[in-house]
Amino acid sequence: MLNENIFLFSVDLEDIRLRMDDGLKYNASVERLVGNYLEFLNKFKSKATFFVVGDIPKYYPDLIKTLVKEGHEIACHSNLHLPVEKQTAKEFKEDLLRNIESLTNAGANQIVGYRAPFYSITPKTPWAFEVLAETGFKYSSSVLPSKNPIYGWPNFGEKPRKMKEGIWEIPISLSANFMLTVPFAGGVYFRVLPKAIINWNFKKQFGNNNAVAGYFHPYDIDVDQEPYMHPGIDESWFYNKLLYHNRSKVFSRLDSIMERFQPKIITYKNYFEELNSQDAKR
Ligand SMILES: [Zn+2]
Repeated sequence: MLNENIFLFSVDLEDIRLRMDDGLKYNASVERLVGNYLEFLNKFKSKATFFVVGDIPKYYPDLIKTLVKEGHEIACHSNLHLPVEKQTAKEFKEDLLRNIESLTNAGANQIVGYRAPFYSITPKTPWAFEVLAETGFKYSSSVLPSKNPIYGWPNFGEKPRKMKEGIWEIPISLSANFMLTVPFAGGVYFRVLPKAIINWNFKKQFGNNNAVAGYFHPYDIDVDQEPYMHPGIDESWFYNKLLYHNRSKVFSRLDSIMERFQPKIITYKNYFEELNSQDAKR
């Protein structure tokens, strides 16, 4: 399987309204948007991974069950959506346990995967993999292996790696053709970069026999969202504008990648299990 084109499509399942003080005055849209992602996945008969924040089941009580029933993987994306760097090891563990509990109560079973909010596992959080391993996680996809204005781990390496703690880290895929390397297969970059650049990067990664790891949020495709200032961008009007840019093009871009490269979308769980069995044979 690992010699095919593999697209680790995933959704960071969170409701940005819940990160804002007055967020609940805006319309709830997460369920509808997840439905749009499911339509895309069903069209290509694919199962993907949903990294879910702990407060989602409280506002969308049936969503986890729907995803599980359709055969998708449920993984953790923290309980409070705080950067790992802003927590102590103890706080990090407590947050993880609450996240697991919330998703399990909502119908998830055997959670083995984790993604840090903002890809915030960095050299400043050397304890993170240990805490994840002792909490029962088998893989993480939480590192942006480059210099980055927010978080990043330069020199981590772009290939998935089994950490000494026994857990796999599957870093986000980066573009190869810029001074500033960015996660081209995810969120705002996937929408804002020219389509030709996106396609070139998919081609290059697949050509090097690398899986492409990317992420999408519900809001990335929300063309009907009422305009407001997104949290976590320090009131920057420029970033806020970018966050609304090209949302209507996400599915046509995804479709064209699916048609052109015929990648296989698989869950992160399946992928790390393949890596593990390959590793065991060595
Ligand atoms: Zn997130």
